Amino acid sequence: MGIERLSDLEEESRPLIRRRALEWLSHFFLIAAGVVLFATLVSIVFVARRPPEVVAMVPAPIQTLIQLPTATPTITPTPVPPPIALLAGHSGGADTGAICPDGLREVDITTDVAARAKVILESRGYRVDILAEFDQRLSATRRDYSPRAFLAIHVDSCIYYASGYKVARAEFSANPEEDDRLTHCVSTAYAAATQLPFHAGSITRDMTHYHALNEIDAQTPAAIIELGFLGSEHDLLKNKRDVLATGISDGIDSFLRGMTCQ
Ligand SMILES: [Zn+2]
Repeated sequence: MGIERLSDLEEESRPLIRRRALEWLSHFFLIAAGVVLFATLVSIVFVARRPPEVVAMVPAPIQTLIQLPTATPTITPTPVPPPIALLAGHSGGADTGAICPDGLREVDITTDVAARAKVILESRGYRVDILAEFDQRLSATRRDYSPRAFLAIHVDSCIYYASGYKVARAEFSANPEEDDRLTHCVSTAYAAATQLPFHAGSITRDMTHYHALNEIDAQTPAAIIELGFLGSEHDLLKNKRDVLATGISDGIDSFLRGMTCQ
């Protein structure tokens, strides 16, 4: 009897349990749907409210990649060649060099011819330094002045028994082949311009041991020219200095163009 009563009670309570279960289940799905809906809304709001800078950061690498090819290329500047050096003999001091009875002075010729040669060479695109006889750039101890070519300009004494010009390089040269080439180029062009003979017999120690040749960079191609004799070439030296300057300029120009001038 006790067992039957219990079974009856169980029979009676089953629909109730089923209904409660269904209620809990429906509540569960309702809550779950609410959570899903909430999460969806939150994600939509989050995306919509994403800060603009965050959006902007995304394409940055793309911009960088695009800009790379347009970056300014490194330009290696073309080095400017050193100037040509023309030393105007006896300039810048009290010594005027050779002088004639009529007052024609060596220093006036060397200074004027150097200035005219500078104009000619600069018109051909070169830069030119004009140096005084004992210019501060010259130093036997430093030897740090290194023009691309060096030419000292002098004039011989006021005599009439000798004629012609002379060009020489240092006797003890560190760069004899280039010094010889410069000497030949200046000599050939100067002879062509002035029609003067080369006065070879009187190249002196004063020329081959000229102080300035040992006061510039040892590798600098260098020479010294005696433009002529103040006596014998009086008219040429006094009145035709453009001719003298042209001869010098043509010679240096040929040398710098790499000609052998033989
Ligand atoms: Zn002199």
